[in-house]
Amino acid sequence: MSEMIAIANQKGGVGKTTTGINLAVSFARAKRKVLLIDLDPQANTTSGLGIVPSTVDIGIYEVLIGTNTLADAIREMESGLDGVFSNKKLVGAQVELQTMTGRETRLKDAVANVRDQYDYILVDCPPVLNILTLNALVAANSVMIPAQCEFFAIQGLVELLDTVRRVQSSANSKLKVDGILRTMHDRRNNLCCEVSDQLLQHFGNMVYRTIIPRNVRLAEAPSHGLSILDYDRNCTGAAAYIALTGELISKEGQR
Ligand code: ATP
Ligand code: MG
Repeated sequence: MSEMIAIANQKGGVGKTTTGINLAVSFARAKRKVLLIDLDPQANTTSGLGIVPSTVDIGIYEVLIGTNTLADAIREMESGLDGVFSNKKLVGAQVELQTMTGRETRLKDAVANVRDQYDYILVDCPPVLNILTLNALVAANSVMIPAQCEFFAIQGLVELLDTVRRVQSSANSKLKVDGILRTMHDRRNNLCCEVSDQLLQHFGNMVYRTIIPRNVRLAEAPSHGLSILDYDRNCTGAAAYIALTGELISKEGQR
């Protein structure tokens, strides 16, 4: 049975997409079978892997509104890594889904047939708690929350954790928070270090031990359509995502 992880935070620009791409590629290189789903109309995961969003004819939009199956939308990226991509059409899905039956379970229903083929399914969510993010939370076993270590981080997390709790008590009792990922960390910035410590105190074991540093190579890689492992395997950003992969793999036996 696969581990399906929704990468979510309604706060924008915290590293959701960067985490999705680099974790997916890193899992594949560690011989795991991975499906990466771009659930964001901004389509940053799509373009970050070198695919032009306007060329995505069968993507997550078609899957959610039911004109195609998920299997139709899957593209093989490399050995062990498949993707389902997105484009601006997905904006419309939010309106179209409102009138559809089972509007919150459409992603869950769509992945049901392929779930057993993967070790990990990663879903990159948009920066808003809308019907798309809700679909990801209903379908997933766990939610990963990238958080930048800055003043408003904890406030935003409380709101997201409330939503997670509501989903747990209604549509998906299996959903666990596993966990909070500190991103864009700058050791020379005092506030950043203080917030990082506060996150540990407040959320304890819910926080990953691995910290993703601020690293310009991570910001450059998507403009070349490459993961950090292919763009600069020796930078601190690559090392951090490889460490995060190891941290997740080390928990495989506990699931
Ligand atoms: P959105 O909410 O818009 O979907 P996001 O949460 O997916 O954003 P990203 O797109 O991953 O966030 O990151 C935001 C910006 O910061 C991007 O330009 C990305 O390249 C850059 N970035 C992400 N992580 C790092 C990092 N660790 N160090 C430096 N830059 C980073
Ligand atoms: Mg994003």
